[in-house]
Amino acid sequence: MSENILTASEDLKGQKIIISGGGIGGAAGALALSLRGADVTLYERAPEFKEVGAGLQIGPHGVKMLEKWGLKERVFESGYLPERMQFRDAITTEPILTMNFDDDFEKHYGGKYLVIHRSDLLSILVEAAQEAGATLHNDVQVLGADTREDGVTVHIEHRSEGRKEDVEADMLIAFDGTHSVFRKEIVQDDPVPSAYVAYRGTSELPSDPEMKDLKDVVGYIGPRVHFIQYPLRHGELLNQVAVFQSPRYLEALTDGTEVPEDWGNNEEFKNAFGHTNEFVQGRLGSMWLDTWWQMADREPLENWVVSDRIIVMGDAAHPPLQYLASGAVMAMEDAECLALYASQAAAKGELNWGEVLREVSGERAPRCARIQTIGRFWGELWHVDGVSRLIRNETFRNAERSGWYRYADWLWDYDAERREYLQDPSKGELPVELQEWEYNIHKVIAQREAGVAAAELTI
Ligand SMILES: Cc1cc2nc3c(=O)[nH]c(=O)nc-3n(C[C@H](O)[C@H](O)[C@H](O)COP(=O)(O)OP(=O)(O)OC[C@H]3O[C@@H](n4cnc5c(N)ncnc54)[C@H](O)[C@@H]3O)c2cc1C
Repeated sequence: MSENILTASEDLKGQKIIISGGGIGGAAGALALSLRGADVTLYERAPEFKEVGAGLQIGPHGVKMLEKWGLKERVFESGYLPERMQFRDAITTEPILTMNFDDDFEKHYGGKYLVIHRSDLLSILVEAAQEAGATLHNDVQVLGADTREDGVTVHIEHRSEGRKEDVEADMLIAFDGTHSVFRKEIVQDDPVPSAYVAYRGTSELPSDPEMKDLKDVVGYIGPRVHFIQYPLRHGELLNQVAVFQSPRYLEALTDGTEVPEDWGNNEEFKNAFGHTNEFVQGRLGSMWLDTWWQMADREPLENWVVSDRIIVMGDAAHPPLQYLASGAVMAMEDAECLALYASQAAAKGELNWGEVLREVSGERAPRCARIQTIGRFWGELWHVDGVSRLIRNETFRNAERSGWYRYADWLWDYDAERREYLQDPSKGELPVELQEWEYNIHKVIAQREAGVAAAELTI
C-alpha cells in the first residue's frame, strides 16, 4: 500500500451532487467526491462510456492523483511507463532534448510518467467511482438547471425513452466538454481553431521490426508538423499521432473566405510531411484515415462559477491545445481540487457551496489559463522553420545540459492543497520573458481586422 493513498471519509455525507458528462473529468469527479462520502449521480448522454482516440500521456501531476485515489496498480497494469521523453528534429531525426523519467524524476515530482489508452483510463475511473458508491447513468442528457437558494434543480432527458425529468441536488458540476451547455451561461464564445489537424493510429508493436524496442515517448518536431510515438498496453500497441498545419484552413483564414468543412483532409495529409525525414514519412502508413481531429481550444476563462450551486470544469472550462499533454490531467486536478476544498470546509463545519466554488475557481482558473496559453506557445515552438528552428534546437540542447526541471516544475509540480494560485493569481499570467509573445492565430485575426491585405499578412 502506498502512503499517498487517500483515506476515504464521510466529510460530504448527505451532500447530493450531480455531474453532467462522463468523460475522464466527470468520472474523476464522481470518484473524488464519492471518496469523501458525497452522494454522487453522474449523467452521460452517450449510450456507453467511451473515449474516441487512443493514447493519453499522464504526467506526474496526474499520476499523483491516480495514486491518491488508490488506482496506481490498476493504471500501471493497463498502461505503460516510458523510460524517457525524447524530442527529435523532424528533418534530421537527431535528438535535441531527452528527459529521463528515472528515480530522480519520480523523487522530484512525486510521481511517475504514464501513458495509457484513453478507454482503459476511463473504464478504470468509471469502475472505481461505482465502487466508491457513485451512481452513473448512460443515455441521459442534461438539458439545463435552475439554481435555488438551497440547491439546484437539474433538468434531464432519458434519451431513448424521450422522457424528461427534474432532479434535485445540492450542487451540479458541468464536466460536459468543450460544447458545454453551462459554459454558455458564463460566456458566449466560439472555439479557436489552431489550423492544425491530428491523425492518430494504433498498431501492433512487438511485430513491428522498426519499432519493437521503443520504450520512450518520442516527438519528432519540425516546421508546421510533428509526429509522436509511444507504446501502450504494456508495449502491446504502438500509438502514433501525426499533426500538421492545414494549408486550406490557413488560406481561408488569411483570405477571409469560407473555411472548408473538411480542412486537414486526406489529400492535405498526404502532402504535409514531404519535408520531414524519410523515417517519419515511412511511419505515416499506419495512421487511421477515416477520422481526423481539427485542433482547437478556447480563450481562457477567468471565472468558472455559473451560480452558487453550479460550476464548469474540465474541457467545459478550459479546452486546451494538446501540446502540454495536460487536458485530461487538468480535468482530474479540477475534480480533486473541488472534492478536497469541499471536504475540508465540511470537516470544519463550514460547508458553503458558493464559497467553495469560488475558492476552487480562484485556484484553478489561473492555473488552467497558464496551461492553455503556454500550450499555444509550446506548439508554435515545435513548428518553427528556418533559423528559428536552429535556435530552438540549440535552446532545447542547452535545457538538457543545464537541467530542464526548472522549465517543467510549474506544470508537473502542482498540488491543489498548496492553494498557490489563490495566494498569487499572477502565477497564471505568462512569465515576463514571454509577455511580448503573441499567438499566431491572434496575430492573423488582428491584421485582418486592421485591413492588411492577404498577400501582406505576417504569419
Ligand atoms: C489529439 C489530442 C491529444 C490529447 N492528448 C492528451 C494527453 O496526452 N494528455 C492529456 O492529459 N490530455 C490530452 N488531450 C486532452 C484530453 O483528451 C481532454 O482535455 C479531456 O479528455 C477532457 O475531458 P472532459 O471529461 O473534460 O471532457 P470530454 O472528454 O469532452 O467529456 C465530456 C463528456 O460529457 C458528455 N456530455 C456533453 N454534453 C452533455 C450533456 N448535456 N449531458 C450529458 N452528457 C454530456 C459527452 O458525451 C462526453 O462524454 C488530448 C486531446 C487531443 C484532441
